[in-house]
Parts: sequence; structure tokens; C-alpha cells
Amino acid sequence: MINKFTGEVYKIYTQLQEKNARELRERKKLIHSTIPTYAQYEKEISNLSISLVNLTISNDKNKINEINKIKEKILTLREKKYELLVANGYPADFLEEKYNCPLCKDTGFIKTTRCKCFKKHLTKLYYENSNIKSLLSDGNFKNFKLQYFSNKSTGDSKRSPQSNMQDILEKVGLYINNFETTNDNLLFYGRPGTGKSFMSQCIAKELLDKGFLVVYRTASDLIEDLRDIRFNKDNNLYDLIFNCDLLIIDDLGSEGSNEFITTELFNLINKKLLSKSKMLINTNLSLSEISTSYSSRITSRLMGDFKLFKFYGDDLRIKLNLNRKNL
Ligand SMILES: [Zn+2]
Repeated sequence: MINKFTGEVYKIYTQLQEKNARELRERKKLIHSTIPTYAQYEKEISNLSISLVNLTISNDKNKINEINKIKEKILTLREKKYELLVANGYPADFLEEKYNCPLCKDTGFIKTTRCKCFKKHLTKLYYENSNIKSLLSDGNFKNFKLQYFSNKSTGDSKRSPQSNMQDILEKVGLYINNFETTNDNLLFYGRPGTGKSFMSQCIAKELLDKGFLVVYRTASDLIEDLRDIRFNKDNNLYDLIFNCDLLIIDDLGSEGSNEFITTELFNLINKKLLSKSKMLINTNLSLSEISTSYSSRITSRLMGDFKLFKFYGDDLRIKLNLNRKNL
């Protein structure tokens, strides 16, 4: 899959190079048709260049002097070309190649190292394939306000929701910073509206911006994907779901239940655990509800192989709506 996206980025460079060449041809055409003297200078330069080559390979004893003379003429003609462009109201560099990225001249490489624009193109593709492009406008840590969470402890724990969230934020921060080396999988559980999806989107955005491929799916969309993979042999989709850097499964428990779902879900989780391909799962179910809703095989993996984070507090959606109405 990384190969698939890398290939897509190379295609973008090829298209950019073709576009640059096409636009340059059009600019040349315009100048040749509107400033005939310009074409004449070009012709002279081209003839002089041929003479220069011939002189260089000749045995002429005085060739150094001649060569310098021709070089001088070429330089003068080049200057005249620029002057002509400016005199006709065009910028001096009008007939030079224009690049999207002047650093690598739209090749993606500076010598043998990848240019930084390569990652930019790759990240854009990752965003498009993550399924969260539209959600990400709000979902970033800048909009994450701890004061939305109450600082009074509730029946859920002695710890207040705010202090709990602060702890989660710190651990999530470490997770993001150590993402490349960690094998941890995360399970966010708790009642609806306690910030799980929002936190997941923040993580997704942060990792995408760091150049990781994050794929975001609701559990029910994921089941549809698994169906496509199984019955339509969609290999690209398989690659995306199974080999991305982080698969986020939102709202586990909403996907319904039948034999296909149970089997495929287990296979997915098990396979990804074995290949150390990371997951983040959100669910509105409590831990005891997870154990009654899922087979012991799935439950034991969720409880044993995931770091568990309990989200609790008032329903943020209701709270935020009330705040808005009170404004
Ligand atoms: Zn570049």
C-alpha cells in the first residue's frame, strides 16, 4: 500500500512536469508570434552555439580567442532577449521553467534524497484515504478544552472527569511522540459524548500531519469494507485496512451481530495484533457490556492487548449545545 501511494505521488510529479513543459511551450509560442526579433535572437544564439562546438573540436590554433568572442556574443544576445521581454511588458524570467517546488524542480528528489514536498503530497493522499478529511476541521488538539470536563468527581471514579482527561491527554501525547516505536493499541470506552471520537480525531490529525497513514472507519463501515475484501477481492482496500499505520475503529458495538461480523472482526483484530499493526478502538460499551456482546476470543484480545482508557463525565454534546444556546 505504501507502494501504491508512492506510485500515486510519482504520477503527480509526472503530471506537474508535463504541465510545466506545456505552459512553457505556450509562453514561447506567444513570444515568438508577438515579438519576431526574439525568435531571430534565438536563431542567432543557436547558430553561434553550433560554431562554438565546431571550434572546440577543431585544431585551429587561435581557437581560444575565437571561442571567447563567440561566448561574448551569445551573452550579449541573451541579455538582449531579456531586455526585449521587459520592453514588451513581460517579466525577465517569462520564458524560464516555472516549478511548483523550486527545490526539487518537481522531481521529488534533491540528488538522491526525497524532497520535503514528497511528504506533503503523500500526506495529502493519506488524508484523502483516511475517511476523516471532512471531520478534521474541528478535531484537533487546539480545540480540545479541558474546562469542558467537570473538576468535581462523579460516581464513576474518585478522580474528576477533568483530571482523568488530563491524564489521558498526557498518555496520548506520549503515544503520538513515540508512535514509530510503540506497539500499543488503545481502547477508549465510556458513555456517548464523553470525548472519545473527538480525541481519536485529534490523534488522527496529529499523526497524519507527521506523515503516518491513519485510516478512520466507523465499525459499521469497516464491516462493509471487510465484506468487499472478502467477496469482491478488493486488494487495495485490504492493504489500506490491514497495512495502514493506525486503524481507528469508531463506535465498536454499532455494527450489529451475525456470524460473518463475528468471524471477520475477530480475524481482523487477531491478524493486526499478530502483525503489530496498530489500532485505536472507540466504544460506548462498558467493559462488562463488551464481554457480554462479544465472543470470549474477541473480548480477551480487547482486554489483554489494548491499553484501556475510561472516558466519563457529562455528555459533552449536550453541554456544548446548552452553552451555545445560553450565549
Ligand atoms: Zn520538492
